[in-house]
Amino acid sequence: MKNLGLLSIFLFIILLNSSLLAQQNDVITIGKLSAAPGDRISGTVAISSEENTAFVPITIVNGKNPGPTLLLIAGIHGSEYSPIIALQRLMPTLQPQNLSGAVIAIHIANVPAYLGRTIYTSPVDGKNLNRSFPGKNDGTLTERTAHFLTSQVYPYADAVMDIHSGDGNEQLRPSWVGYYAEEEDAEIVEKSRKMAMVFGLQYANAFKGSLTPKSKAIWAGSAAVAMGIPSIDVEAGGMGIINPYAINQIETGIRRILDHLEIQQSGLPPVPEPIIFGDRHSVNSPVDGSWYPLVDTEKMVEEGELIGYMTDWYGNRIFEARAPISGMLILRLEAPPVRKGELLITVAELQ
Ligand SMILES: [Zn+2]
Repeated sequence: MKNLGLLSIFLFIILLNSSLLAQQNDVITIGKLSAAPGDRISGTVAISSEENTAFVPITIVNGKNPGPTLLLIAGIHGSEYSPIIALQRLMPTLQPQNLSGAVIAIHIANVPAYLGRTIYTSPVDGKNLNRSFPGKNDGTLTERTAHFLTSQVYPYADAVMDIHSGDGNEQLRPSWVGYYAEEEDAEIVEKSRKMAMVFGLQYANAFKGSLTPKSKAIWAGSAAVAMGIPSIDVEAGGMGIINPYAINQIETGIRRILDHLEIQQSGLPPVPEPIIFGDRHSVNSPVDGSWYPLVDTEKMVEEGELIGYMTDWYGNRIFEARAPISGMLILRLEAPPVRKGELLITVAELQ
């Protein structure tokens, strides 16, 4: 009896301790970077394949108080600078003592593409990181980068934001936020939708199509959703320039998400819900050659309207890109070089 009494006191202490622990944030450890509750750390984590080595610069701000963890990803495409600069501006302002929860920033997911100034793909293996999720632990460097994110970083996240711009050769306007609207798990769809609604941009995309089987989830954001983590994609900026307007949209939007998740209270005023784009239709080039755009993005266009044209190497017009539907021109290539099959323009229906 006496032993049983001691045993129950012992068990009670263990239960008490574990319930206290459950109210604390966990230590967040990514590679050699580790942040206990109340800590901030910045540093790089190395990623190696058999042929190549790269690194990923990361900041972890682990709040003093418990709460959810928001994962921010920039630089999946290395020539999309507005998200990268927005995270460089935002992260130093987040103080662990003010956070209930944590924020993890992947400052530049694809450093080889950033330093190599490549669009779409990594100069190391020619792969598009945003088509390489969930990744492979024995794959190429790009595939291993995706695998690093899904295996070592995503498990900490309660919400994921994958932040892009138009690429270095793309004019993208207006900025928009997107979420996966037709995933099977209604709760994840609703949590993602709410994040998109409060981000503060005027336009949103409700991505169509289910992510079943999960092998369809080859984008960073969709891979998060496939793992059961609410997620939004953001597109702001482009053309390989420093765009203060887009940078501010991203930084302010993240602060609104931090408010929404109750990780931090910024006191930003509420925003109207965005206009959801209808169907999006793109025109891809049937030829290699040079592209000359004629119509600016954010303009309303009529079906059949000439948006730009391709020439051969000698300047002869060989293809005309016409609006496939009536709607808003939301993306156009800006720079001349185009390979056969590459996207020239996208028009979105306005509902
Ligand atoms: Zn991108």
